[in-house]
Amino acid sequence: MAAVVIAIVAFRSENRRARFENARALHHDLTTGEVGAARTIIGNLHYGGLTPSDSRRVGPDELTAYFTVLWCFERIEAGRTALLRGALRTDGTNDEAVGYLDALIAWHVAEFACGFAVARSRLATTANADVSDGSSSAAFWRLLQAMQERGMVDPLYRAGSCPGPGCPCSCHSPSLP
Ligand SMILES: [Zn+2]
Ligand SMILES: [Zn+2]
Repeated sequence: MAAVVIAIVAFRSENRRARFENARALHHDLTTGEVGAARTIIGNLHYGGLTPSDSRRVGPDELTAYFTVLWCFERIEAGRTALLRGALRTDGTNDEAVGYLDALIAWHVAEFACGFAVARSRLATTANADVSDGSSSAAFWRLLQAMQERGMVDPLYRAGSCPGPGCPCSCHSPSLP
């Protein structure tokens, strides 16, 4: 009996360790390597205030970067859904590993709620690239909605578009250089 109890405790702690490792790896994917580099490119589109004369600077690299970051969020959403499925409580609330992941990614999700919308419109106007990102952006919006339902991202952020005046994103702040 004691052996069974010890085995269960060991399994639980191993399982818990693996779940935290999964959450950490999902965040790592977003902040390092090619995704990190792509985020810098999208950050320039998002915060750069491009004028029409900058149009030569916007092209295939920016389009690739857009999808590199979007697909990373799609992987995170899938990984988060898998963590929720494996949570001890069926609704996933108060799950430590999901809470840890959410705390790590919330501000990134908020930033890109506006960032993807701004980048998409800049790609359309300066590179004449109509971004078709249906199912990948649907995964991102599910992630945004989940963060908003948990109160971790401002509800003013909108799925699929920047609401303009009233958007909480710092790119709209006149104090930016
Ligand atoms: Zn905005
Ligand atoms: Zn913004």
